[in-house]
Amino acid sequence: MAYVLDPDVRRALAERVRYYNELGIYDFYQRTASVVEPETTVSSSPQPEEREEMPVRKSAVVAAVAEENIFEVLTPKPEQGVADPASALKLIREDLGDCTRCKLHKQGRKQIVFGVGNPRAELMFVGEGPGADEDAQGEPFVGRAGQLLNNMIKAMGLRREDVYIANIVKCRPPGNRTPERDECETCSPFLMRQIAVINPKVVVALGAVAAKNLLAINAPMAELRGRFYDFMPAGVRRNDPAWPGAKLAVTYHPAFLLRDPRQKGEAWKDLQMVMKYLGLKPQQKAES
Ligand code: SF4
Repeated sequence: MAYVLDPDVRRALAERVRYYNELGIYDFYQRTASVVEPETTVSSSPQPEEREEMPVRKSAVVAAVAEENIFEVLTPKPEQGVADPASALKLIREDLGDCTRCKLHKQGRKQIVFGVGNPRAELMFVGEGPGADEDAQGEPFVGRAGQLLNNMIKAMGLRREDVYIANIVKCRPPGNRTPERDECETCSPFLMRQIAVINPKVVVALGAVAAKNLLAINAPMAELRGRFYDFMPAGVRRNDPAWPGAKLAVTYHPAFLLRDPRQKGEAWKDLQMVMKYLGLKPQQKAES
């Protein structure tokens, strides 16, 4: 349906869109939502990860992904039309710059942790945010949790350099606290652009914070795990021939598995589901 706008309104909208472009946001979507009864989605005895990583909201909202752009996009993304994903990622990194878009930039970060791995990866892992080791080294998942993630990747028959690894927020939250909603919303458009240019077959959300932000679903891990979701990063248009579609699976964050190793078997089931979809053969079982 065509929208006819008053010239003044259009000018005001153009100003506003330019402002969002400066924040790294290039696309605007109408979000339709259906409310899921909170009583039926909240388990009476939440698992530790649910308590630690995903505070329960009064109402859980399942948001449908973008139906259509409601504004004309006035400014193309810098990476638009760049066929080589490595070059496109470089352009997104340049666009991010020495980012001060959210308050995490002034809360003790040493550096921005952009993401690492194969720009043409079929499999992508997305965590919550950098910790102390990642902040020091500028690379996601390099501490103890990173070692466990490496073991998980190896057990899937892959090498770390075969996959791409990133986080919802790119700066370390102080004291490793959970990133706040405004921080996730400000930072995640850059992650969405990374996913769009990498074009993976499968994205694995590590933990409830990553799952909640990627899927716009607030539900217990028990409900999120064990199935594939059709995933389209915000900013990609439905029926875009350059986006053949991706699956998203949810599993436990490796840091949670270090705290509760009894759940490793469950995480391995999630990874086996991904392996089957990608046609991967296991090399060895995930190590402790
Ligand atoms: S977390 Fe993201 S949006 Fe916030 S300052 Fe860092 S890079 Fe910028």
